[in-house]
Amino acid sequence: MNKHLKQLIDLAEVDKKIDAFEPQIEEANYNYEVALAKTKSIESDIENLNNEIKEEDLKKAKNELHLAELSQKLEENTKKSSEVKTEREMKSLQLEEEIAKEQVTFANEEIARLEKIIDAKKEQIELAKKSLEELTEKLVSVKADVDEKLASINEERQKVFVEKEKLLAQVNQKGLAFYQKIRRWAKNSTVVPVEDQACMGCHMIISDKIYADVIKAEDITTCPHCGRILYMKAAEE
Ligand SMILES: [Zn+2]
Repeated sequence: MNKHLKQLIDLAEVDKKIDAFEPQIEEANYNYEVALAKTKSIESDIENLNNEIKEEDLKKAKNELHLAELSQKLEENTKKSSEVKTEREMKSLQLEEEIAKEQVTFANEEIARLEKIIDAKKEQIELAKKSLEELTEKLVSVKADVDEKLASINEERQKVFVEKEKLLAQVNQKGLAFYQKIRRWAKNSTVVPVEDQACMGCHMIISDKIYADVIKAEDITTCPHCGRILYMKAAEE
């Protein structure tokens, strides 16, 4: 077989191996990213709940302020009632007092209702914090697991890189440029075998003449249909 063709076949194999590491790395990272995203989501839940509590607290404070105003008013009414002269004034004062008392009841109910909401939200926060704690603990072990996997993948990858460096030192520049130009679009099917006289890149039948060239392997032959580099997988069959 032509030396340059052999080198390109080997280079294609090495490039394929290098590309195969990517999904492995992604898969290793995936578990950690899922756990991390969960943590982030709980953290934002807690933040939202805290903001909601602040809003409810504000509403509660408004009601408390109203309550203070009402009690002041009721106090004033008591003072005034000792000074009333006519029955009309008395009735008007009584009406005012009734309304104020109703408002007091309403404000108290409203405060009780808001406190219930606040308590429920605080409980939710406690639960969220607990699961966050558990998750953070788990995250440490997930991270250690991922790091270990990545380290072993990296070690393997380093070996393949060394293999590629060796090949690149041998391969001739013209052949390499040719290979890289095809690889830009053909990716891992830059160098493909011929099976049943068909290019395994585009699956089109090649002519007898080109088929014979591929079998002889005296030169680098490309598929007339797609332009990929062709070779025979003779040794394995
Ligand atoms: Zn083809």
